[in-house]
Amino acid sequence: SIMLPVSMPPPQCLKKRMVVPHRYMFGPGPSNVPQRILEAGAKPVIGHMHPEIFEIMSDIKSGIQYLFQTQNRTTFAVSGTGHTAMECAIFNTVESGESVLVAVNGIWGERAADMAERVGARVKTIVAPPGGYLTNAEIEKALSEHRPVLFFLAHGESSTGVLHPLDGIGNLCHKYDCLLLVDSVASIGGVPLYMDQQGIDILYTGSQKVLNAPPGTAPISFSERACRKVFSRTTKPVSFFLDLSWLSNYWGCDDKPARIYHHTGPVTAFYSLRESLAVLADEGLEKSWERHQKVGEYFHAGLESMGLKLFVKEKHARLPTVTTIVAPHGYDWKEITAYIMKTHSLEISGGLGPSVGLVLRVGLMGCNSSKANVDMVLAALKDALKHCHRSKV
Ligand code: PMP
Repeated sequence: SIMLPVSMPPPQCLKKRMVVPHRYMFGPGPSNVPQRILEAGAKPVIGHMHPEIFEIMSDIKSGIQYLFQTQNRTTFAVSGTGHTAMECAIFNTVESGESVLVAVNGIWGERAADMAERVGARVKTIVAPPGGYLTNAEIEKALSEHRPVLFFLAHGESSTGVLHPLDGIGNLCHKYDCLLLVDSVASIGGVPLYMDQQGIDILYTGSQKVLNAPPGTAPISFSERACRKVFSRTTKPVSFFLDLSWLSNYWGCDDKPARIYHHTGPVTAFYSLRESLAVLADEGLEKSWERHQKVGEYFHAGLESMGLKLFVKEKHARLPTVTTIVAPHGYDWKEITAYIMKTHSLEISGGLGPSVGLVLRVGLMGCNSSKANVDMVLAALKDALKHCHRSKV
């Protein structure tokens, strides 16, 4: 073939060096990545089917089993962000025409309902007011009325700052022959959660919050009960990429003698994820839970002593990882977040979904959860309230 002159020249922008600033990542995610984890991700790329990678994947499985407190063999990390794990959970467990019940206490329930609709499920929602949560009695009523095959609940609703109570919900779901799917993207590692003991059938999270790894891998686990439902489907899941039979083979969770190529695993993202799980194992879950709780309470008390109000009224339902602050009266929340970014190189964010315009959100997760960082955020907020425009009305 002849080589013709190209009509598109190389872009000038690519000739400039890439610049990435240092930022305090105190929004709802991603959080800062410690050096140890960054360095792990900079190790050489080797084949995604090499024995060394299988060993790293096996370490990741053990780390996730510890993080989730589960003995499920079908435990692995999806190549993708939290949304990929959400779709992996829903696309595999639900067949077209089946009934799904979704607890909506923020944006994550809304998105789960959207995903279930896309696979042709009959979706019912039960909605809690923003900043609130659902009682077990309300959940049981909806389970008995709708008889769903799957119930979705966000444990840490990062859009509203709510930590949803979990106790008893697993048993309720099983009483109605329904699987319990829990989103712990914003909570796991920062608050107690026991997948097996709490009867959770499918649990997932993301790498970029409490784990402090870069975004791009999403731990997930399926109980025996969930696997039985998935592997007795009469139709194939709509997604080839997220098909549990392929993924569990790739991650060595099945009984097949060999692993078959499914997709090219993001090996450097696996290195970072493994390292982040090692950091957590070094500290220990209980210590991490305690630290997040103490720092969260210290932060919440500091906010209240500044005269700010917390969006979640009930103390026990406040996430220690992602805090929602009632948007200060008379201010434009966008000016506050922009001011703090510009003058302090510090990210906090506004609301999301049902909490847009109502709150400021601050995430202190994993290594970012410290009293020194709380003091930094409080100082930045004080500074912003002094310098941003305040209307008199
Ligand atoms: N669920 C919750 C509770 C989250 O906070 C997030 C991320 N903000 C997600 C799901 C989606 O994760 P990702 O952005 O990694 O796709």
